[in-house]
Amino acid sequence: MKSLWNDAEAAQFTGPLGPRVYSSRLLGREKALVLHGGGNTSVKRREKDLFGAERDVLYVKGSGWDLESIEAAGFTPVDLEYVRRLAGLPALSDPQMVNELNTHMLRAGAPAPSVETLLHAVLPHAYVDHTHADAVLSISNAPRGEERIREIYGERVVVVPYVMPGFDLAAYCARAFREQAGPRTVGMVLLSHGMFSFGADARESYERMIALVSLAEEYLAQHDAWAVRLPEPRRVRVAREALADLRQTVSRATGRPMILRHSDNPKFLAFAQHPEVARLSQQGPATPDHVIRTKPLPMLGTDVPAFGRQYAAYFERHAPQAKEPKTMLDGAPRMLLDAELGFVAIGRSAQDAAIVEDLYDHTIDVILRAEALGGWRAVSERDLFDIEYWDLEQAKLRRAGEAPPFLGEVVLITGAASGIGRACVDAFLRRGAAVVALDRSAAVAEARARAELLALQCDVTQPQAVQQALEAGVARFGGIDMLVLNAGVFPPTQPVTEVSEDAWHRAMAVNVEANLRLLQGAYPLLKRAPRHGRVVIVGSRNVPAPGPGAAAYSASKAALNQLARVTALEWARDGIRINSLHPDAVYDTGLWTEELLASRANAYGMSVEQYRRRNLLATEVSSSDVAELAAEMCGRLFAKTTAAQLPVDGGNERVV
Ligand SMILES: [Zn+2]
Repeated sequence: MKSLWNDAEAAQFTGPLGPRVYSSRLLGREKALVLHGGGNTSVKRREKDLFGAERDVLYVKGSGWDLESIEAAGFTPVDLEYVRRLAGLPALSDPQMVNELNTHMLRAGAPAPSVETLLHAVLPHAYVDHTHADAVLSISNAPRGEERIREIYGERVVVVPYVMPGFDLAAYCARAFREQAGPRTVGMVLLSHGMFSFGADARESYERMIALVSLAEEYLAQHDAWAVRLPEPRRVRVAREALADLRQTVSRATGRPMILRHSDNPKFLAFAQHPEVARLSQQGPATPDHVIRTKPLPMLGTDVPAFGRQYAAYFERHAPQAKEPKTMLDGAPRMLLDAELGFVAIGRSAQDAAIVEDLYDHTIDVILRAEALGGWRAVSERDLFDIEYWDLEQAKLRRAGEAPPFLGEVVLITGAASGIGRACVDAFLRRGAAVVALDRSAAVAEARARAELLALQCDVTQPQAVQQALEAGVARFGGIDMLVLNAGVFPPTQPVTEVSEDAWHRAMAVNVEANLRLLQGAYPLLKRAPRHGRVVIVGSRNVPAPGPGAAAYSASKAALNQLARVTALEWARDGIRINSLHPDAVYDTGLWTEELLASRANAYGMSVEQYRRRNLLATEVSSSDVAELAAEMCGRLFAKTTAAQLPVDGGNERVV
């Protein structure tokens, strides 16, 4: 592992916490050190209070911040002397510890300080860095782990056995440090948990971390345990209905819709097909705090109820011994390994599922390297239970507010690169949905990459492309719950006598046939939607009130309208709702060029300005007005409504 320290870059991080922010980010950039909120860092500073009195302040990473993107505001100042005294108490419960930390913060509104704050406080050095380095975990979770760690590091590190984070660990580390630390000591290994390094300045502490982890990597390489390879996996084809079925079962077990993320990484598939997968995967995570996101073990195979029974038995084995009464979490898996399916990550949101996938990606490396050293083993089931059901985690669950309405659900939107479609993408993302955004324009993929959005260039008139899009959507999110059929074309204005065959066919192909195909392809998925499928059709004011010169457009939208009505009749038995919107006078869309506006205005004998406001309310309707309504039509307000046709047009005399 190489140091990423760069003086020029470091100089850009100014202010008293600048170096602390910079080197924390360097740690965060290295996924083999920390992942998704894992790890923490701190700095101790002497500062003057308002009365000029000096005091020692510990700035420690606040909860909710990621090292990779942390800023000065992400470090919470606490009264160092007080926190050190806390660490010297004979005992302190977790709720007491949290209360004391929260009441001894020195900046109102700072995030809650890390649960490892006491540990940072008891170490004497100005800068303290903590990671869950993969290489160190592989060694400490192999046979003779402690011996190997001592052999690699000698006096350079203090070695601490596995102890649950919090007060006990801090007290243990304080003692171990007094007993073991010598003049050459630069770090501390917490067996089966991670690595600490410390130093007088940010660079020293950071580069010691890199040096310590590099020693572990070299040790693995010397013992043929670094570049571990899995055999080429047997390729499998996963039917999208199979994934959607699984998602339905998992969602039933949690009582809410869940995202399933199927990985096509051959490493996952090879691990799932490993002859020893049962032994390797059924011990526990690489480092205990993964358990919050992944549960202790991945499910082997696809029997969700059986997994739930095993999980309940695990809860029953350990809950009675806990200090406080515990509430059992849902019994659904967060990871699945299966020779036919490969690896599936499961989460409440697409972001959660992506994190689970990342964690297990690194876990496989840690497991295989430990295995190459003679045999992987994780901490005890009891230790995992203690973390999973930690007071502090249970309290978070009790506090959790109301989830956004579409969290865990998936919507597919066509024509998503501009206008109403693009506004729909935003409206559904804001409501917590994962979005499959399709458009024939490459501009659809220009949006910022995020776990909740899968943007695909796709011409919906191409059956093959639609199949591929559905395939990709299900692989990424596990199913499709909602469909917004928005893509459409408006052929040039032509009187009926002059309508060209081309224009007619094009209107029918995009506005009708493509939507028929999408409905057909999505049906098996909508049928399996945990909260029942919903479809929103973006129709047109031309359906109830066609305009002269727009024969192809009006006829195609009318055909689409009938298609929607018949579909609503046929799919009601599956609980699928299909509603249509008839927008009009929406000019901020890809459909409306200046020429088209002029030509339509002309067809009505109006100026462009009159044409824009030719509705009863004399108002302009925007893409986002339509998109908000489309999203609401998929929500609770419209739960008892199907086959409705709703105008969004500012009121139209001819429709009224
Ligand atoms: Zn840790």
